[in-house]
Formats: sequence, C-alpha cells, structure tokens
Amino acid sequence: MRISALTVLNPYPLLDDKPGQHQSRTLQLQPVRIARDEHPVSRAQISKNALTVLYGLKKAGYQACLVGGGVRDLLVDIKPKDFDIATDALPEEVRKVFRNCRLIGRRFRLAHVHFGREIIEVATYRAAHDKAETSDQASTKDAQIVRDNVFGNRDEDALRRDFSINALYYDITDFSIIDYFGGFEDIAKRQLRMIGTPDQRYREDPVRLLRAVRLAAKLDFSIEKATAEPISQLGPLLDNVPRARLFEEMLKLFQSGHAQRSYEMLQQYDLTQHLLLWPVEVNPVDQNLVELALQDSDQRLRDGKKIAPFFTLAALLWPVRQSIVRQEMANHDDIHALHSLASHRAIADQNHLLAIPKRIAQPIQEVWNLQDRFERRVGKKPVKLLHHPRFRGAYDFLLLRARARQNSDQNDNQDLTELAQWWTDFQHTDETHRDTMTRPKSSHSKPRRRRTRRPAKPE
Ligand code: ATP
Ligand code: MG
Repeated sequence: MRISALTVLNPYPLLDDKPGQHQSRTLQLQPVRIARDEHPVSRAQISKNALTVLYGLKKAGYQACLVGGGVRDLLVDIKPKDFDIATDALPEEVRKVFRNCRLIGRRFRLAHVHFGREIIEVATYRAAHDKAETSDQASTKDAQIVRDNVFGNRDEDALRRDFSINALYYDITDFSIIDYFGGFEDIAKRQLRMIGTPDQRYREDPVRLLRAVRLAAKLDFSIEKATAEPISQLGPLLDNVPRARLFEEMLKLFQSGHAQRSYEMLQQYDLTQHLLLWPVEVNPVDQNLVELALQDSDQRLRDGKKIAPFFTLAALLWPVRQSIVRQEMANHDDIHALHSLASHRAIADQNHLLAIPKRIAQPIQEVWNLQDRFERRVGKKPVKLLHHPRFRGAYDFLLLRARARQNSDQNDNQDLTELAQWWTDFQHTDETHRDTMTRPKSSHSKPRRRRTRRPAKPE
C-alpha cells in the first residue's frame, strides 16, 4: 500500500538538474508501507532491550523505528550486529524517558540506553544539511559534508542515508516497514543501490565508497550499475578523509568475517591503493600471505573464534614493510637493523594514510621484528622467546610466511617450512627434549655468537 506522497526539499540533484538549480526543487517522496503480513521481520528476532526502547518511546508519544543495518540484516536473514533506533524525540527527551540513558557525542548527540552490557543507540531524525545555512556553507568545495548535525523529520532522515536497503524503517506502532526508496525490492534483487545521484553522494562523504564495497561483500550483493560506475574513479577522494575514520572503516572491512571478499572488491574497484601503501607491483609471496591471512581470519570468525586487529594488519602491511626491506637492502650490512628500520618506517609511512593507534602499531612491529629471532635455535634463546608476550602472534605469523611460500612458485621454501615445523615441535615437547633440540650441533663447541650477516635475499 502506498501512503500519501510527501514533499520535502530534495538536497540531491537529479540527473537532469542544471548546476545550482536543484536546491529550489522539491522531491516527491513516496514511501511505501509494507504491512506486517507482507514482510518476514518478527519481534522475536529483535533484541528484547531494543523492543523495550521502541515501546518506551511510543508510550511517551514519540515515533520510534528500527532502522539501518538491523532491519536490512533481518530481511536478508543475517543476525544483526546491533539494533539502531531512530525517533522524532530530541536527545534530551529520550533521556527523560529512560533512567538508564546517557547522551554522547558532541558533533551529533546520540542517546545510549544501557541494559547491562547491551547498549541501544537512539538517534533523533537528522536532516542532510543545516537548514539555516545554504548547502554551500555546510559543505566544503569538494562537496564533502562537514556539518551533519541538524535534526529533521523521518523523510529527511531517510534522504540522508546511503543505500536504499539502509533506509527501511520498522515502525513499532503497527510492525510495518516503511520503504522510502525501493529498498525492499533491492533486497529481493540482492543489490546495493545509492539513494540520489551516486557521484554526488560519494563526493559528500567518500567513506561511502568503502561502505559500498563492505556491504556488498558482507551481504553478498551486487552493486547496481549506476552505483558502481563512479567508484574506481572517485577513489582519490579517500585521501581527504580523516585518517582516524579511515582506520575505523578499514577495521570493519577486514574484521567482519568477509575480509577476503572485501579485499577482492577493493582490488576490483582500485581502492586498495588509497588504504594501503603497497608498492605498485606486490611481490607474489607477500600477496599470498595477505590472502591467506584474510581467509584464515574469516574462517576463525566462522568457527566462533576471535581475531586480533594487529594480526590482520601485520599481514596487510607486510608488503609495505618488505618493499622497504628490498629498497634499503643495499644500504645496510646488519640485517636485523634493516628489518627493524623497515618495520618502523612501514608504520610511520602508512600512518600518513591511516591513523593506526599505538596499541595496534606496537604489536604489529613486535610480530615483524620477532621473525628474525626464530632463526636462533641454539642455547637459551629459544626458551626465552617462548615466554615472550608476543610469541603466539609471531609464531602464527611465521606459519603464515611458510604457507605463503609453499603456495608460491618459489621453490626455496624448504628453510622456512622446516623452521616453522621446528618451532611447532619445540612448543609441544618436554623439557628434556627441548634441551636436545637447542644443543649446539657439535658437542665441543659452545653456542657461537652470531656474526652480523649481510642481508640475505628477502622473501
Ligand atoms: P553494519 O552495522 O553491518 O556495519 P550499517 O549499515 O548498520 O552496517 P552503520 O555504520 O551501523 O552501518 O550505520 C547505520 C546506518 O546509518 C546505515 O544503515 C545508514 O542508513 C546510515 N549511515 C551510516 N553511515 C552512513 C554514511 N556514511 N552516509 C549515509 N548514511 C550512513
Ligand atoms: Mg549498524
């Protein structure tokens, strides 16, 4: 059933707009209400606490809808990560309804309703632009939105969302779903379609380029033609996105259980170069290592295990680090010094693209730098390494390096495979056998001090 057409100011130009004209035009929004018996979303699938908030707001006389990823994921039969609620109540008003509510955010105030460990986020409907100002003042010359903090009504809230499937509102008054832009049909077609003119919407907020890839990978959806078309070309806009926000988005891309598919799509749309400082030609073994790490992390999540962001990033940034090793090899005699310099520089250089917090940068460097220490297998050093707090991550990384080589055409992988096997055995054997394993080969000689070697051929 179609509900009455609504007229709101359309902040997005339509394809036939002439420059500067679109702001004076209005857009007929014709949301469709999909009745409870015409869609599969049931209250049993929604968290009890989210329902409490929805009913609480309704009882206090406000509109309350479940919106965004929560509704979308239920419609594609994925368990939602969280349930976001949109309302016409102002943040202060939400706080008055719930005792267990805190307001957060300075740029845009949100209400967090706390239920033990679960937090239900309630956002007041937002408009796309500051109504008090012209859209020129509200955005930079690159058309990026810099102000996003104006309350609006539900229609305006729907217009500022990115994809049609993210603008579906589950209304608690009658359990219907309000569909503003044909999201319901797009779910059936399994496609991601941008609301408005894709080119302009990407320019307003280039993070949407990454969201398109991430959501298509997560949902296993295609990207509709017009939505996909500008992505490769607009990639350079990501260079202007704040580095901290890019880092957050990057984590979502690679920690979500769909890392492998996300990576393939980033490559397909030429976006990898805007996130990772990889050399133009990535060494095939390094590339292998990245792909194996992403497959592993998806598998771990499928098995209900945890993954550490530093480990995935250590793999993703390995090509950056190794390319510095290769570049600098001729200038350094001491291979350990070279490796530690390359680790340090890889992080520092990469930081120009993504703000990697110290708590993640540090373990990445440790994992890389510990790789050399696996080669010392004589005397007390191996047992000491076993007790290093970062041993586990570094050992897993060694296994990954060995597998990456095995899968490659390079047939000199014997050393690394043997080394990895030695460390596997060393961990699982008893103390007496460990002694035997770390005894110098010739029983007369003491463990020799390592001489500084000239750098070996890098992998
Ligand atoms: P998931 O939770 O699976 O990562 P999501 O779509 O819920 O995906 P969130 O970041 O939680 O992603 O955003 C919630 C909703 O807010 C989205 O569904 C979308 O409607 C809107 N949204 C988020 N980011 C943007 C953006 N950059 N531009 C426009 N709308 C956005
Ligand atoms: Mg979400």
